[in-house]
Amino acid sequence: MTPARMSKPRADTGAKPGRVAKAAPQKPRRGAKAAPPQKPARQPKLDPDEVARAWAARLEVERPGLLSFVLDRLAEANGRPVWQPRLDPVSELILTILTANSADINAEVAFGALRDTYPSAPRPPRASLEPQTWPGWGGVGLPDLPPPDWAAVEFAPIPELTDVIRPGGLANQKAPRIQAALRALVANGGGYSLEFLAPKSPLEARDWLSAIPGIGKKTASVVLLFSFGTPLMPVDRHVFRVSQRVGLIPVGVDADAAHDYYLAMLTPEQMYEAHVSLITHGRRTCHARNPDCEHCPLAPRCRYFDPKAE
Ligand code: SF4
Repeated sequence: MTPARMSKPRADTGAKPGRVAKAAPQKPRRGAKAAPPQKPARQPKLDPDEVARAWAARLEVERPGLLSFVLDRLAEANGRPVWQPRLDPVSELILTILTANSADINAEVAFGALRDTYPSAPRPPRASLEPQTWPGWGGVGLPDLPPPDWAAVEFAPIPELTDVIRPGGLANQKAPRIQAALRALVANGGGYSLEFLAPKSPLEARDWLSAIPGIGKKTASVVLLFSFGTPLMPVDRHVFRVSQRVGLIPVGVDADAAHDYYLAMLTPEQMYEAHVSLITHGRRTCHARNPDCEHCPLAPRCRYFDPKAE
């Protein structure tokens, strides 16, 4: 560009070339009322059950038969789990509290210590102390013994109870949690029993249990599923990890919400099987750090293994 053709620089208006500059916002006249700030339009609140049902329908259209594929392949690899009762419901509740953020094997040691320190009956002969193991369980099992004396556990001094369950981990949090749960059972009028939950609907029973401080959807679902066969789907870290990797639940959904997605996706008869099969798969093959995709029966339809898997 020659100097003769250079135009005089324009005063900087702050506007982009070729556009008309916007007028500066005018100050309200003295005495005039300022307009109230505009509220953002309120978004309609989505019903979580509807969202979960919509996902279940979409998954069936976009990736037909995925859930049956997962259950069938895992049944071929590890057998098809059939529901069987484990412990009495209150023991199940306390054992589940002990397993929170701890290895099952440590929770077992802590539960055994509760039985030893607060026995409700004399210990039977050695022959009956063989540990029982359960499908999907990550510990070595517990002998089939009477539960601890729950009244003694409820009224034990907290420092003492904390020491007893220390091998289970997070004892400072779990000791008061255990006593709160026992207190809630007694306050309900049923003594140290959960039998009154059996006839309730699955969600009513889950809501009752998860209203106890420290008991979430997962713990409540484990207790009800394993004690009574109530059709609920507990989503622990193994189930959640496998589900996310395969693409059974949407990206960005947390483990708590995943419980309700599964209630929309599974039939009541599938819930125990799905829980035990996914937990076993997470423990044996789909490890958190190094999943063994090479030997995984789900690989052909897993989005972690192949992001384009159908
Ligand atoms: S293919 Fe890999 S990531 Fe996918 S489920 Fe199997 S082990 Fe897990």
